[in-house]
Amino acid sequence: MARCLPAGARLAIATHNAGKLREIAALLAPYGIDAVGAAALGLPEPEETAPDFIGNARLKARAASVAAGLPALADDSGFCVAALGGAPGVVSARWAGPGRDFATAMARVWRGMDGASDRRAWFVAVLTLAWPDGHADSFFGRVDGEAVWPPRGTNGFGYDPMFVPLGAAETFGEMTHAAKEAISHRARAFAQFAAACLGTAHAASR
Ligand code: IMP
Repeated sequence: MARCLPAGARLAIATHNAGKLREIAALLAPYGIDAVGAAALGLPEPEETAPDFIGNARLKARAASVAAGLPALADDSGFCVAALGGAPGVVSARWAGPGRDFATAMARVWRGMDGASDRRAWFVAVLTLAWPDGHADSFFGRVDGEAVWPPRGTNGFGYDPMFVPLGAAETFGEMTHAAKEAISHRARAFAQFAAACLGTAHAASR
């Protein structure tokens, strides 16, 4: 059974990624939670040593929760390409290098696909809510679509400009934040988190 956050709770958002922080803050906005980002709390960025999304989400949430003495919500996510056997996947951020150069990372993905006719791609997100006593609950979200080239759009972040979700014509980079939020991997994981951990105590503030 997942542990609920009380209404008005202070919650650490365990990310230094501005794009993720903006999206998570927007998702939390209707719930009356006092959310504060990792940078504002002066939290360090732990090394992501786990082999999978859930392991890294737990590691980040637990580290932030212990350091801040607060419940902490972490996101581990990535862009997966069928023709690359699911890469870059859990190491999506690393493909952009220390300079976080996603133009180069996207070009590397496209080069790696080498003209493959199979363009299937998907984003995955795991959200973990961890507590200072070590308790943690995790929630999974995924959105399917295809990789496109050249990249299009300047909204969003990371690999958004080269991903068109199923049934859409625009890339995540071309969509408004609200349109991405309606279908994204992060929003899908968040919906499960909200149902399990934000409970009825928050309904009045929505
Ligand atoms: P990590 O979760 O810190 O390992 O980083 C995940 C990486 O996956 C991000 O730096 C992005 O490159 C990519 N990613 C995750 N979610 C999204 C998204 O919604 N749009 C675009 N790229 C994303």
